[in-house]
Order: sequence, then structure tokens, then C-alpha cells
Amino acid sequence: MLPDYRVRQRDFLLEISRAMTAQLELSEVLRLVLNASVVMLGGQVGLIALRDSNGLYRVRATMGMENDLVPILNQQLRELFKSVGRDPDPEMLNEKLREMVVALDRRLRQFINLPLVIAGQPLGMLIVFRSYRGSATTNDLQILESFADQAAIAVHNAQLYEKIDQDRRRLAAILENSADGIMILDSELRINSFNRALERMTGCSAREAVGRHQDEVIVWKRLDNGDLKSALQEGWPFRISSDEHVETLYVEGDLLRRDGLTLSIGITYAPLLGSDGQLANIIANVRDITHFRKAQEMQSVFISTVSHELKTPVALIKGYAGTLRREDAMWDPEVIRNGLAVIEDEADRLTILIEDLLETSKLQAQRMELDLSDVHLDQLAAQCVERFRTQTDIHEFILNFPANFPVIQGDEARLRQVLDNLVSNAIKYSPDGGTIEVGGEADDETVTVYVRDEGIGLSESEQERIFERFYRVDDTLRRTTQGAGLGLYLAKTIISAHNGALRVKSKLGHGATFYFTIPQQ
Ligand code: ADP
Repeated sequence: MLPDYRVRQRDFLLEISRAMTAQLELSEVLRLVLNASVVMLGGQVGLIALRDSNGLYRVRATMGMENDLVPILNQQLRELFKSVGRDPDPEMLNEKLREMVVALDRRLRQFINLPLVIAGQPLGMLIVFRSYRGSATTNDLQILESFADQAAIAVHNAQLYEKIDQDRRRLAAILENSADGIMILDSELRINSFNRALERMTGCSAREAVGRHQDEVIVWKRLDNGDLKSALQEGWPFRISSDEHVETLYVEGDLLRRDGLTLSIGITYAPLLGSDGQLANIIANVRDITHFRKAQEMQSVFISTVSHELKTPVALIKGYAGTLRREDAMWDPEVIRNGLAVIEDEADRLTILIEDLLETSKLQAQRMELDLSDVHLDQLAAQCVERFRTQTDIHEFILNFPANFPVIQGDEARLRQVLDNLVSNAIKYSPDGGTIEVGGEADDETVTVYVRDEGIGLSESEQERIFERFYRVDDTLRRTTQGAGLGLYLAKTIISAHNGALRVKSKLGHGATFYFTIPQQ
């Protein structure tokens, strides 16, 4: 027959180990351990303090003591360990603890302290206080030890669990907040997780996506190369590459979003194999490649426009030069003059195009610099109109500036370039002629200059894009008129460098008004 207290001890231990296997809630296990220890030792008060990652002791469970004592105890423990060091001599520690406790409550005369240790590492301590004098017996210590062991295992497990949980949460936060779309698929290609960036890209919420087959969520409008399913059928990811690394798979195309729009994306699939060597999961990294595609598109538009723009004047120059040079022909001075004039004009056009291109590429690397001086925009506009008047006989020009138009601070050459571009566009894009009005308005702080034509005009969607580099509206007229789509881009950049804004008001088929507003200073 076991003595009575042994039976109780066994019952307590059973209860504690059941709690430990049933749940990993550390505070609950600590409470049970403390309760068993205090009851078994006939004590009144007890506490469990655990060491945190900084080596500081903090009270994590108490029994028979007021809650508001906890912060005081924590403070005293901190000071106590400061005075005895991190790994104190047990005798000295006990002495200090005793002083601390007596100071707290005079009735607590005796205390039994046991360190919680696992694999030689101190995790904390378990202390039971009794109100009678005397020291703890070996039996007391044995009882306490059995509980302390349980507590140490529970603390250790909880710490491991906490660490795993923390790693898991950290990883989940990285996935969730990644700018790339990330989803995890199981081996059947069902979606296990789906992050926020993917919600934005697909227009499908994580709640809807998780549990579905990836093909229900990633719907391709157009695929550029093979897809995941056919790669799997061909044996991916088990074709081991030469360096023995499992290959990732890259798939690219246009995704059909929930709202019917499309988005260019590239997906990198990385396999995750289980310990049995079988495919356990596939991690898919989804990237929005719209910008990349746009840049590619722009590059090809750039090459075709620029080569076209270079070819035309060069062909004209070569044609005229060849004709004039013919030795078997005697040309009138008039013909020669005209021919040379064409050669000169075309050479000028080439120079302007090359300057625009150089300027554009420079602007991508640095901000535009201005050479400031007093600028009379009304006079500049009048000179510009005079220059262009000679180039067309189907347009009528009107200048409309109030008297005493303010003189502003600006870069004269650049502002002339803006006006030239706007007026030359007004002529180019009103092929049936009409009136072109160049005018200005001013208030106390700003001036506004506009160029209005009665030409083909622009739709609203075109109005948004014409200020982009190399953008030209794609219709027959623009295909036959010359231009590299740089004029308005440069004009807008020049006006922005003057802290101003260049805008357009237009209706398709009803002419266009380009106007810029800049501060006078
Ligand atoms: P470019 O004239 O060399 O094509 P711009 O940058 O000056 O380049 O103009 C971009 C596009 O804006 C033009 O191709 C044309 O489609 C449109 N655009 C510019 N000015 C006008 C205008 N006054 N009326 C109608 N469309 C215009």
C-alpha cells in the first residue's frame, strides 16, 4: 500500500501529464503544477518564475497571492539577479530570496525553491512558501522535484512550440505582404494558400481561391509557352538537371481576371518534395510583368518609328542629291535651288529628330536643367507664328495676347521649342486647314498660353496617352504624317521643369486646344 500522500502525488502527476498532452497552453500547465506543489507541501503561497530570452526572471504563475504583487515581485527578481549574477550560487540565491519574501509578507517563514532545468539549461524556478519555521525535508524536495520536472518539460515544449509558431507567423507575414503573388498548391494542384498580391492580380479573394483547383483561379487568356499541367505530364519536376537540382518551371501569358480585364503575368513554380521523394507542394511565385511587356513594346515601337523617321529624310536627301549630281542633265538654277532647299529642310529634320532622341535619353538619367532669363512669351509666340505661316497656305493664324502680357522667368530656347511643337502639331493634325489661334491669359501669379486648331482632334483615351514617350495615335493620318512621338513628351517635360502643367482639351473630329500654365517667377 502506498502512503496517502504518495497516492495524492501520483494523482496530481497524472492530472498534470494529461493536461500536458491535451493542450499546449503553458499557463494552464503551470497553474496545475503550482497548485499540486503547494497543496502537497502544505504551503499557502507559491509562484513559478520563468527566464525570458534575456535571462530575466518573470513571474508566470502564482497561487495564494494578490495579483498586484506580481509587478513588485518581477521588479525585485530583476534587482535580485542583478546583485547575484545570472548563474548564482544556490545558497546565496536562497538567502536573497528569503530576504525578499520576508520583506513582502512576515507570515511566510519558510520557503522551498527548486530550479526548473532541462538538459542543463535553467528555465526558471518553482517556489512554495510555508507559514511555519523550519527547513524543507528531503521528502518535501522529492515531491517538489517530481512536479518541477513536469513543469520544465511543459515549459520546454511550449518554448519550442512558440518558436515554431513564431517562425510560421513570420513566414506567413512575408508571404502575405510580398509584392509578388504567392500561392501554395498541393500535389493535386489545389490551392492551399493565396496571398494579398494575388487577390489584387486575379480579382479573386483568398477565401474564394483556397481549396479550388488552380485552373479555376488562374485562367489564361493567352499562354506564351507550356503550362503547369502539361509540364507535370511530361515528368516535371523529376527530370533531374545536370547539377542535381530540381528545376523550377516558368510560365508566362495573359491572365483573365475576374472583372474581364487581362493582366500579363509570369509564374515561377518551385516543387517541394516530401521526405518520401514525392511531390508534396508547389510554390508558385506570380509576377505582374505589365511594365516589362510595355517596355518591350515601347522598344519595338521606338525602333520602328525611329527607323521610319530616319529613312524618309535620308531617302529624300539621297534622291535629290543623286538627281542634282547627274552629269548628263543641265538643271535650271530654280530646280537646283528647290532641290537644295529640300535637302536642307530634310537635314534640319534629321537634326531635330536626333536632338529630340538625345534629349529624351538624357532625361531618363537626369532632371532637365533650365537656363533662366526674362521671356516675352507673346513675342515668342508671334515669331513662331511668323515662321510657320510660310509653311502652309491652307491655315489662317490668329494671335491673341492681351497688351502688357507679363514677362516671365524661363528658359527661352526651351519655351520656343514647346511653342514650335504645339504649332507644328496644330498644322500637321488639321490637314483640311482652318484657323490656328495662339493666345495667352495671365493672372497675378501665372500665365497661360494656348494653341487651338480645328483639326482631327483626339478622343479621351488618346488624350491620356499622347504625352508618353513615342506615343502616336494609330490612325491613317498619323501613319502618313511624320513624327516620332517625342514632341509632346519633351514639351510636357519642359513645362514641368518650369513648375507648370501642359494639358489638352479636345473632342475627336472637333479640333484640339493645347495649353500650358506656368508661374511668372
Ligand atoms: P508626333 O507629332 O511626332 O507624333 P507628338 O508627341 O508631338 O509626336 O504628338 C503625339 C501624338 O499626339 C501625335 O502623334 C498625334 O497623334 C497627337 N497629337 C498631337 N497634337 C495634336 C493635335 N493638335 N491634334 C490632334 N492630335 C494631336
